[in-house]
Amino acid sequence: MAESTGARKRRRRGPIDRLAEAVRELEKVRQQARAMGLFAEERELLECPKCGLWEDVTCDGLLITYPKDDEGMADSGLRFREVNEDTFRCPACGSEFRPPLDQGLTGEFARSTALPKGSG
Ligand SMILES: [Zn+2]
Repeated sequence: MAESTGARKRRRRGPIDRLAEAVRELEKVRQQARAMGLFAEERELLECPKCGLWEDVTCDGLLITYPKDDEGMADSGLRFREVNEDTFRCPACGSEFRPPLDQGLTGEFARSTALPKGSG
């Protein structure tokens, strides 16, 4: 049994390792972005089905939340909390919900184009 098992243990740096590194790097960037109050998530903007609090992103990329019927678009200062992968908790009413997945990019696109562009 002169088979060398030692060589097996040593992992070569393959594309998976580099990918993992890139993901870590991305996560770092995301955390920095979050710290600056920017929206850096790979998910839809959330909307509480119960009380109507929802997320929006300003033209500066800042993540804000405000009640859906509030036309002032003033940041409530509240932030949805991620309970787990696909469940979020509303900071206003405390209800947990799963954001709809079928909305996709088209929903986001429709909403952003429906809004007046402003003078910016
Ligand atoms: Zn709510």
